[in-house]
Amino acid sequence: MSGASSASLPVTRPNGASATSWIDALPNWVRAIPFFGIHAACITVFFTSVHLVDWILCFSLYVIRMFGITGGYHRYFSHKTYKTSRLFQFVLAWLGCSSLQKGPLWWAGHHRLHHKYSDTDEDVHSPITKTVWDAHVGWILDKKNDPTHWNILKDWSVYPELVWLNTWHWIPGILLGVACYFISLAGGGTGWGGVSVGFLLSTVLLYHGTFTINSLSHLFGNRRYETTDRSRNNPWLAIITLGEGWHNNHHHYQNATRQGFFWWEFDVSYYIIKTLGIFGVVWDIKEPPKELLAKKYRTPKNLAPISNEPSGKT
Ligand SMILES: [Zn+2]
Ligand SMILES: [Zn+2]
Repeated sequence: MSGASSASLPVTRPNGASATSWIDALPNWVRAIPFFGIHAACITVFFTSVHLVDWILCFSLYVIRMFGITGGYHRYFSHKTYKTSRLFQFVLAWLGCSSLQKGPLWWAGHHRLHHKYSDTDEDVHSPITKTVWDAHVGWILDKKNDPTHWNILKDWSVYPELVWLNTWHWIPGILLGVACYFISLAGGGTGWGGVSVGFLLSTVLLYHGTFTINSLSHLFGNRRYETTDRSRNNPWLAIITLGEGWHNNHHHYQNATRQGFFWWEFDVSYYIIKTLGIFGVVWDIKEPPKELLAKKYRTPKNLAPISNEPSGKT
């Protein structure tokens, strides 16, 4: 493989040219305008002729792009729990970007640090040591969390196409928004219904569906495994995030592709990855070790203790 040397990459920016851009100088509230603007634009749902095709788009794009985050950003780029081709790796990155939740390497770097510092003062989205608002969305809108942590992404910074996409992460989302207009038209809609419901509403639902894992899944649910953080297993969150709600399982053992460790812990992202495996698109799918599933751990009604209380406020 070829590409940019990770050693040549700065810690904070993939391209030095944009390191002191005028955008960086803007206060947080100005930089948050696009995020809140997408929320406000959802009001167009009430002023647009919405057809069945637009609702189908809304649901489909929620599920497909949620997989881009869970199967792509999380289980592939952050934890490398399975392998795939360089082409499909780019497809996963593109899919994740289309959710407008920043780039794959920005996401993976921050997520690796979340596991390292979980629910301590250094965890930028802990609902324990920060506020629930900070954990849910506040941390994303804070420009101090804008840099990509290239120093812990040397495994990915060797791929120039990923570094490029990480910089221009908003492009897939914008193109998808335009595509929604034409898909709606082709499906008998007005076009604008596709943009309003298919793209904007779906994107906002996707935002908050995804964000629950940082906020609610460290607050509500059972703890099967004793961990040093407050992670929980929550079936409701597993539904809306295609399996990410088994967060205590995941914090206890991060190397498995599946996060629902038992058959009753539905994990749609895992089922999709297994299906892709059947067709040879992905391979080396990692399972949790058998000893983790042993009876002594199978106490979903119990609240496993936290073995190391965080130092922050509770
Ligand atoms: Zn993780
Ligand atoms: Zn967590």
